[in-house]
Amino acid sequence: MTDLDAGPYQGYVYAYPHKTAYRPLDPRPTLRRVWEREPLESLFLYLHIPFCEMRCGFCNLFTRTGAPEELVTAYLDALERQARAVRDALDGPEFVLAAVGGGTPTYLSAAELTRLFDLTERIMGVDLRAVPLSVETSPATATADRLAVLAERGTTRISIGVQSFLDAEARAAVRPQRRAEVEAALGRIRDTGFEALNIDLIYGIDGQTGRTWRHSLDAALAWRPEELYLYPLYVRPLTGLGRRAGDWDDHRLGLYRQGRDHLLAEGYEQVSMRMFRLPGSGGLTEYTCQSDGMVGLGCGARSYTSGLHYSHEYAVAARQVRGIIDDYVRLPAEEFAFANVGFHLDEAERRRRHLLQSLSQAEGLDLDAYRKRFDTEATEDFSAELEILTDRGWLDGPEGRWLRLTSEGLAHSDAIGPWLFSAPVRELMAGYEQR
Ligand code: SF4
Repeated sequence: MTDLDAGPYQGYVYAYPHKTAYRPLDPRPTLRRVWEREPLESLFLYLHIPFCEMRCGFCNLFTRTGAPEELVTAYLDALERQARAVRDALDGPEFVLAAVGGGTPTYLSAAELTRLFDLTERIMGVDLRAVPLSVETSPATATADRLAVLAERGTTRISIGVQSFLDAEARAAVRPQRRAEVEAALGRIRDTGFEALNIDLIYGIDGQTGRTWRHSLDAALAWRPEELYLYPLYVRPLTGLGRRAGDWDDHRLGLYRQGRDHLLAEGYEQVSMRMFRLPGSGGLTEYTCQSDGMVGLGCGARSYTSGLHYSHEYAVAARQVRGIIDDYVRLPAEEFAFANVGFHLDEAERRRRHLLQSLSQAEGLDLDAYRKRFDTEATEDFSAELEILTDRGWLDGPEGRWLRLTSEGLAHSDAIGPWLFSAPVRELMAGYEQR
């Protein structure tokens, strides 16, 4: 049995290789060395704020709850030291895209957000009002004063995790919130005015049915968001349909198809398995961009060059997060001049990454672009894998210069992605999990 038969929900490949394939770099290269031969004219800047008001039951992100004020201040101090070290290592960088993620960036107060943007502009030299800037928020923290700062500093896209518009479902996903609070937050976001609003919803919550799912979809659609992300729940409920993995898989796949068809009928276009967008809503890039050249600041952020993906630490388990943040805020300036943990991508891994990230998008893989980048043919490099996907009816083409997943292929993106991991990456990930 291959992974492709193990069910449609094996893992969300938001980046390849996964952080659990990172290992301590020995010797640690300086950032100057890491970036010296990289193109610097179209970089993506990512700022990570690892704080949330509460821990959602489904969360596997690097974040901690209940951070006291002093810790947030110390974190911003450390971010400033890191920004200086990174800026010193880059020779004339040009940032064309920026995002603040988490955690919940709006866990920061309006004054702290101002400080964050100030240090980004002053030290990193990014003109945030001139580039697309995405910021994540939550219903409780999307307050008018914070939103005003975001808008004033150039935020073009605001993304809010709602998950469900039914209070009981929100509770079941361990994110207690009231519908009224969610609607009020959405109202404040629309009143403030951002180019794009993204709403995250989750399917597969215990007790969720086709009817309640439709209810949440329609409640979100009432705001006519420019983007919607539909996430499958990955933490299996111990009751109801979650009892048997196969039943839960079928249930989630059914809800996925229902959601997809509903949004398509409402005029949205599908960008990836999770992402739907209103056509003509601007040149909004999916913020999991496949290009190399990402500079991450913050203790959970990754950075990408063409040959090395790196970060400060590679733990993702919640129990380790507190210790890592505490260590991060104490780091002296000189420590930020190095890449600590990471993964070196050789030519084969670069091709694999390009294939994987391209196929996860509805647009698919541009064969000409692949040839231009690698001077080889994707259809030859991955002939065995592509044949298997084609035989299953999950791959179309090549059609002209494009190779893309079929609608059912896209529905199985979370099985296809992990299945395409290379053997060395699988081995490293398995080694991490055994710790
Ligand atoms: S708000 Fe997001 S980052 Fe924070 S706990 Fe919930 S899912 Fe995780």
